[in-house]
Amino acid sequence: MTANLLDFDLEGLATFCAGLGEKRFRATQLFRWIHQKGASRFGEMTDLARSLREKLEGSARIEGLPLISQHISSDGTIKWLFDVGDGNAVESVFIPEADRGTLCVSSQAGCAVGCRFCSTGHQGFSRNLSSGEILAQLWFAEHFLRGHLKTDGERVISNVVMMGMGEPLQNYGALVPALKVMLDDHGYGLSRRRVTVSTSGVVPMIDRLGEDCPVALAVSLHAPNDELRDKLIPLNRKYPIAELLDACNRYLEHAPRDFITFEYCMLDGVNDLPQHAHELARLVQTHGGRGVSCKLNLIPFNPFPASGLLRSPQHRVQAFAKILSDAGIVTTVRKTRGDDIDAACGQLAGDVKDRTRVDRRIAQQRTVMLRPVPADTTREA
Ligand code: SF4
Repeated sequence: MTANLLDFDLEGLATFCAGLGEKRFRATQLFRWIHQKGASRFGEMTDLARSLREKLEGSARIEGLPLISQHISSDGTIKWLFDVGDGNAVESVFIPEADRGTLCVSSQAGCAVGCRFCSTGHQGFSRNLSSGEILAQLWFAEHFLRGHLKTDGERVISNVVMMGMGEPLQNYGALVPALKVMLDDHGYGLSRRRVTVSTSGVVPMIDRLGEDCPVALAVSLHAPNDELRDKLIPLNRKYPIAELLDACNRYLEHAPRDFITFEYCMLDGVNDLPQHAHELARLVQTHGGRGVSCKLNLIPFNPFPASGLLRSPQHRVQAFAKILSDAGIVTTVRKTRGDDIDAACGQLAGDVKDRTRVDRRIAQQRTVMLRPVPADTTREA
């Protein structure tokens, strides 16, 4: 089997080229052809010596992921479903905004964490994606979009969020080389501040990411105390909130931004009451005596039947946001995008051969909290 060059960061490609008896600058040329120009055939790399192109033909390939489907939302959001073999498929979503183009990228086929509110989590876990499979999503999307939007070669994707299917920090070995290609000036040249890794809280890997490849960090918090978070995110039993927030503060010493983004999915009657907002504000402002420098991103839940959960009403989301803002915490409410094509947050289900029976475990945990909320406790000025 020939090597798929999408699997290499620039260092890896330089090593591969050295094995062919080629100098490092040839690797840089090749890398630019692949990632900056979207080339998939060595024949089109006209400034490479013919002898090198012949060597590459026999030893390497540039192979993206087979595209299964593409859906374009009325708001311009585009969702792609890619075949990753063996009956598994992963999704990527492009979200255009006036000042940026964001690609949401998957890191695993499925996810073993099994968060209660996440449709990927309910699919179970099949396998980690390789670096090449992670990058193939960006490689395809960037070069497809340049043609689709007729940008005349201008870059379209300015931001990448590792928030698609999977827990990226449970696929660390493949994640870091992929991030390095995104950041490399000879690759996609993205700013560290515009590449975000989102994690449910794999504490040791947060520390390693800070050392190896600090980028923006988003943490799925979703609850202000361990009792509730244990029920929503099973990983919390291993890495409880105090340890997670300590890791966030350590990460901030390396991070390209001076804050962590905490994601908080608003679940009707579960974590969205005024007392939760006050407890959350207290937590992030007082943890360890100095708090955690952060922004809060409230996410309207996208219900799916297997979750047994409902979206918080708008007035309760606004009341929750007001309590946090009044406490001095920068708080945003995420706009839902791509609702009409199931591309909104937590709706990326792909198609996964579950090897972990995570869905069965989630079903067994359904002892949780769907208690009715008395109407008069939910309205705040
Ligand atoms: S929210 Fe993230 S970590 Fe949790 S199950 Fe979904 S993909 Fe996995």
